[in-house]
Amino acid sequence: MTDKQPIIAIDGPSGAGKSTLSKLLARELGLVNIDTGAMYRCVALAAARRGIDPEDHARLGQLCGELRIDFCRSAAGERVLLDGEDVSLAIRTPEISLLTSRVAASPAVRQALVGLQQTLGRAGGVVLEGRDIGTVVFPRADAKFFLMASAEERGRRRFDELRARGVEVDLAQTIAEVRARDEADSDREHAPLLQAADAVVIDSTGKGIDAVLAEMLQIIEERTACARS
Ligand code: C5P
Repeated sequence: MTDKQPIIAIDGPSGAGKSTLSKLLARELGLVNIDTGAMYRCVALAAARRGIDPEDHARLGQLCGELRIDFCRSAAGERVLLDGEDVSLAIRTPEISLLTSRVAASPAVRQALVGLQQTLGRAGGVVLEGRDIGTVVFPRADAKFFLMASAEERGRRRFDELRARGVEVDLAQTIAEVRARDEADSDREHAPLLQAADAVVIDSTGKGIDAVLAEMLQIIEERTACARS
């Protein structure tokens, strides 16, 4: 019998619905949501601003130690602060998305950010979303999910999201970018996107958010009830 708050891991490729679902799960269960992708994006943005070469691992590792990344909730939703500056929008441009995949392949960056994520989540009461949460960051998480959807559907969701924000984009190109990021994240040498053997795989293609959320809540309930008994 344990009163420890759970650690929930959500992994999967970009556009599979991880961000939306981890926020909803955190709200529903009273847990803290940790968007690990936003942390890698902050390092990429800082590297771009300082003109650091994405292959310069030593300098990137040093940069991680110099940055302060905070998450806060405001009327405008969850915000990401980099050294006190609200960078929630600046880290989501297509250029920074592609640069992030390169920066995230650096072992020095991974070592620094995985350590930080473990410190943030160790006490429990967290939902972490990313690519390597169930495999590397918290291999003993209480519940692990691997969310996926077809590249076409993920590209279309991204396209709709960018269009809604007034960004002019091309559907075929957006789908191609989703595939390029999948490849970069799956083929890298260090901590590639992998499904943990004990993760529950959920394919959200053609499914609504509410249906996926209900499925996840039920699985968490089962897992945490088992751990309590
Ligand atoms: O989740 P999001 O799309 O914001 O992540 C941006 C990028 O950060 C991913 O494409 C991936 O390269 C990297 N990432 C990672 N490990 C994580 C989270 C994100 O390598 N745990």
